[in-house]
Amino acid sequence: MKHRLMLILLPIVALVMGGIWFLNGSGHGELGQAALEHTKEILAIGPRPPGSKSLEQVRGVVKARLESAGWVLVEEEFERETPIGKIKFVNLRARYPAGEGDPWKQPIEGLLCAHIDSKYFKDEVFLGADDSASACGAIIEIGRVLARDKPDQAKKLELVFFDGEEAYVDFTTLDGLYGSRHYVSNWRNSPTKPRFGILLDMIGHKNLKIAMPADSQVELKDHVLSAAAEEKAEEHFKMFPGPITDDHVPLNQVGIPTIDIIGDFQQTSWWHHQNGGKDDLAILSAESLDISIRVTLRTLDRLLGKK
Ligand SMILES: [Zn+2]
Repeated sequence: MKHRLMLILLPIVALVMGGIWFLNGSGHGELGQAALEHTKEILAIGPRPPGSKSLEQVRGVVKARLESAGWVLVEEEFERETPIGKIKFVNLRARYPAGEGDPWKQPIEGLLCAHIDSKYFKDEVFLGADDSASACGAIIEIGRVLARDKPDQAKKLELVFFDGEEAYVDFTTLDGLYGSRHYVSNWRNSPTKPRFGILLDMIGHKNLKIAMPADSQVELKDHVLSAAAEEKAEEHFKMFPGPITDDHVPLNQVGIPTIDIIGDFQQTSWWHHQNGGKDDLAILSAESLDISIRVTLRTLDRLLGKK
């Protein structure tokens, strides 16, 4: 009898314990799921190259989501000559008001950024799901969570959605990184600058392999790797053997040390649709987004204090 009872109880106990382990170990995954929903909303609008009506709509989505969480947003508009002619670019910036004063005059300690444009292709539908709608979806969710749970951190941050990260032809000093190169003019001659920047790019791939540029500032790199270890996600985070051209470069040049938390885009068929692969919703996963968001939040805890 005892044996029979044990036989019935054991699987039940195992199931319950397994469930508790799952909930503790991997979390509920709500952050990733919510970020995936924001990403889907962005992707439903279609390709969003600089200067397009669809990119204007995407900015509207980002604004609406963040404004409803208490963030204040401004657009930063500028024009540049590109290989396909003159284009109007718009960076989107968000701050969380610290008090009654002008939020754009309050001192901030860090930047959290991603690029909002999708690469322009003349004859191809390119959605840029992981490059970089997923990072925008993640930042929307991080902004909402910080405003709700850690307003003291939110007040010390600026969220930036750069336009025109992608090159029309190839990355040169004149092509690509249009938004970040323009944005840094806000800080170049400023007596006080943010202490750090975190750039997210391609952080939602279902096969998550973050490979951060080797020339990253040591302290920031250590914070991210420690945060990844604390989240038991170290197998997804490593260093890339060389430098990478991305929006962190102009920020670093202007004296804001910035880490690029970027997915390994080399040796893949989906990146910029090389070899027929597609950068669409099918390559993303809520689990990967969840990992990237949790590691970013933990990195912010380390840099800004836990409140
Ligand atoms: Zn790209």
